[in-house]
Amino acid sequence: MEQKVRHLLGLSGGKDSSALAVYMRDRVPEMEYFFSDTGKELPETYEFLNKLEAFLGKPIVRLNMDPDPNKNRDFDHWLTLYKGLLPSSQVRWCTVDLKIKPFEEYVGKDRAYHYIAIRADEDRVGYKPPKISSLHNIEPKYPFKEDGITKEGVYRILEESGVGLPDYYNWRTRSGCYFCFFQRKSEWVGLLEQHPDLFELAKEYEKPNPHSKTGELFTWCQGESLEELSKPERIAEIKANTEKAIEDKKKAIAEKKMTKPNQTLMQIFTAAETLTEVLDDEDDEEPCLICHK
Ligand code: SF4
Repeated sequence: MEQKVRHLLGLSGGKDSSALAVYMRDRVPEMEYFFSDTGKELPETYEFLNKLEAFLGKPIVRLNMDPDPNKNRDFDHWLTLYKGLLPSSQVRWCTVDLKIKPFEEYVGKDRAYHYIAIRADEDRVGYKPPKISSLHNIEPKYPFKEDGITKEGVYRILEESGVGLPDYYNWRTRSGCYFCFFQRKSEWVGLLEQHPDLFELAKEYEKPNPHSKTGELFTWCQGESLEELSKPERIAEIKANTEKAIEDKKKAIAEKKMTKPNQTLMQIFTAAETLTEVLDDEDDEEPCLICHK
């Protein structure tokens, strides 16, 4: 008998994977939705996943989590095994242990299509989507690329479905752990202002490196502790830098779009006013595809 093929779609809590779930709901009714929970997501993300679950009409499987909390394989479990070494863009153990391996275990030996939310406008020259799994039984599928869905299309899908955007989009542009090291400095300030309790928890993770003779700390941001980042003068500096970058970017976007024919003023300003667009375009570091899509 021919082996049944599974259809899998991983949610990150971000706009692209959420829009893909909405887009695929009626196209592939047998789709299995999953979320690799680190146990350290923003409250807005958990709320948004519940909303999405209601729209999809089926549960989103939460990987890493067990009804018995002692059996959870969440971020803290792995951090203990890594002896307090915080993950970083150089040593990204979190995506391997909390995202890729649990996903591969979930699939097992089954044949599966894995639906990935790379958009049509991300198909830049030389851009290769990072591999999520190298298992041969898992075949990636890129419906947004195939169907020409761009960032604008993603917003439209979310808006028209009534699902909308997760609330954290007001102050942060990416999903993922509240302490993610990929955060921009302005987003750390956002965390401090929106969730001071989570900022304090993030600070508690910054402990002295036991192998350092000079008392060096494991920190989330390179070269700066959260204690330093949260000083009023540093916050003012970060806010001023961000505002300037946003203003510059808005001008650049407006100038660029003004030169294109058939653009209405509303289209130009809607794009320029969106914090997500501005910061996404400004950012030159490729974030984690699995956590931030
Ligand atoms: S969101 Fe950031 S910290 Fe969390 S698992 Fe992903 S890369 Fe690691």
